[in-house]
Amino acid sequence: MREYHRDGAFQAKGSGNAYASCRLCGRDCSVDRFSGERGFCGESQSLRLASASIHRGEEPPVTGEGGSGTIFVTGCTLRCSFCQNWQISRASMGAEADAALFADICLRLESAGAENVNIVTGSHVIPAIAEGLREAKLRGLSVPALWNSSAYERPEALDPASDCLDVFLPDLKTLDASLAARFFGAPDYPELAVSAIDWMVGSKPLRYAPCRKARTEGASADLPEIVVSGTIVRHLVIPGRLESTRAVLALFAERWAGKALLSLMTQYTPVRPDSRADAALPADRYVNGAEYAEVMDMLQEYGIEDGYYQELENGDEWLPDFGRTNPFASDLSVPIWHWKTGFVREKDG
Ligand code: SF4
Repeated sequence: MREYHRDGAFQAKGSGNAYASCRLCGRDCSVDRFSGERGFCGESQSLRLASASIHRGEEPPVTGEGGSGTIFVTGCTLRCSFCQNWQISRASMGAEADAALFADICLRLESAGAENVNIVTGSHVIPAIAEGLREAKLRGLSVPALWNSSAYERPEALDPASDCLDVFLPDLKTLDASLAARFFGAPDYPELAVSAIDWMVGSKPLRYAPCRKARTEGASADLPEIVVSGTIVRHLVIPGRLESTRAVLALFAERWAGKALLSLMTQYTPVRPDSRADAALPADRYVNGAEYAEVMDMLQEYGIEDGYYQELENGDEWLPDFGRTNPFASDLSVPIWHWKTGFVREKDG
């Protein structure tokens, strides 16, 4: 396992008919999103996006040398009580994007140097994203497409998009149904997430390639490789809930080690997006040093070697603000498109 830092220092087949009686995720709303009905995610059949940027805070084989081309989708099927992206998952910030605009954004990210396009939390609009990706690929997009999700999605909903997705970055938030019920109202999350990750790991073998700079200038020991196919399972450690992390690591070791990478994240930040005083928050503090040491020991105990873990950094400077043209700190992110302004001119970023 390798440590990494958020500041990057070292580091259709798809059919729109899925919206007609929507069961894309475990909420099973069975609503007709074409006719104005809305399910838990609150979204119509239209794809809405919040921002697109070159982001340098992802895992090393995702960030590479050029940065990851993140595209943040509006809406969410989980809405965790501690969501750091609450402005888009709950507060609905975003603007509609058709397939042509989605493809434009992908191509603009690639021309700005992105190693990949990294689609964040799009489980509720898989058919629209698949349509946009296919158009982008037809128009010349050549970098890998990453699916960065909560894993609260059905394999049969993902399968029609498998021709245009290359790498999966699913969360595995918890295997504890009572935690899943309490903090995101989805007691079936563990079952659905494990079956989605099984499908992801089985559908794309793990493969690396030199980063873009190495491909154009020649390989060098200083230039990283990037993941071009496969699955990186992310797990966020929740302070005071280390038994949940232990269960996730044990399952990873038993089920996916050697076939997927693990990304252990320790950036939990006590964000309170829901102003209700009784809103459940799993912890009101950061991961502390003793907990960090304990999870590092767990990695050893379970013999997990392939993957990444974050350096322990407490603070909220990295939290996004999607009301800004550049939602992230400027050393982490270069904005390309924003829901308020459209494509961002260099001087606006
Ligand atoms: S994608 Fe949205 S409407 Fe469809 S089942 Fe999930 S929450 Fe319900």
